[in-house]
Amino acid sequence: MNGMRGDQILVGQRLKIGENKRETESSAYRYHTVGRGDTLSGLAEVYGTSVTRIMRLNGLHSDNIRIGQKLKISGAGNRFLKPELVRISNLNPKLWRNIIAHHSAIREGNAAIYGRAHKRRGMINGLAYHFVIGNGIDSGDGEIEIGPRWTGQIEGGHVKSRAYNLTSIGVCVIGDFQKFKPTANQLVAFRELVTFLKHDLLGGKPKFYVHKDLEQTACPGKNFPVSAMHKEFG
Ligand SMILES: [Zn+2]
Repeated sequence: MNGMRGDQILVGQRLKIGENKRETESSAYRYHTVGRGDTLSGLAEVYGTSVTRIMRLNGLHSDNIRIGQKLKISGAGNRFLKPELVRISNLNPKLWRNIIAHHSAIREGNAAIYGRAHKRRGMINGLAYHFVIGNGIDSGDGEIEIGPRWTGQIEGGHVKSRAYNLTSIGVCVIGDFQKFKPTANQLVAFRELVTFLKHDLLGGKPKFYVHKDLEQTACPGKNFPVSAMHKEFG
């Protein structure tokens, strides 16, 4: 699992342990057959999702549903996202008008390492992003780390524009995607996270951007699937 040839391990080395059983269930959705009295808002509450998310998953253009209709429900098949950790009690939904994707432009690092670097650069709130997605080097491959700016619901420091920092969730995928590609797991994790933030948590409202849509930069790099993500998230 860790690609090791011998049984030597190092202090501080991160080891993958055990099978991830959920990997084989990645495309699993729950289904709900509409019964008498069911409404989309009622189902959204029961399943912990949102009306817009159910509508999008099922290609519905209105909230009319009929008895006997089989609806796809999200939330069952997450491999990397733990919704209970992202859904925080102090969420300020009015604050977040945008979600902005970045790469870190270096291969190494994790939320703690970047957080220290950002503090050294004078950012008193530390880690500039709200979320960091690992690549298997200094955190798990596809691991979603939640930064203190998300738990504190405070502005990011991930773009130059203060106006965007004040209103935008910053998601950093670790790697240099000018030179390399994101891992398959990173892309799955990124989709799970952005889907959850945009649709389940914020009612479909936030706009989706990659950094270079807004400012003069190569970020998130030419190997990041920008158009695919725009197709998916607007
Ligand atoms: Zn960026």
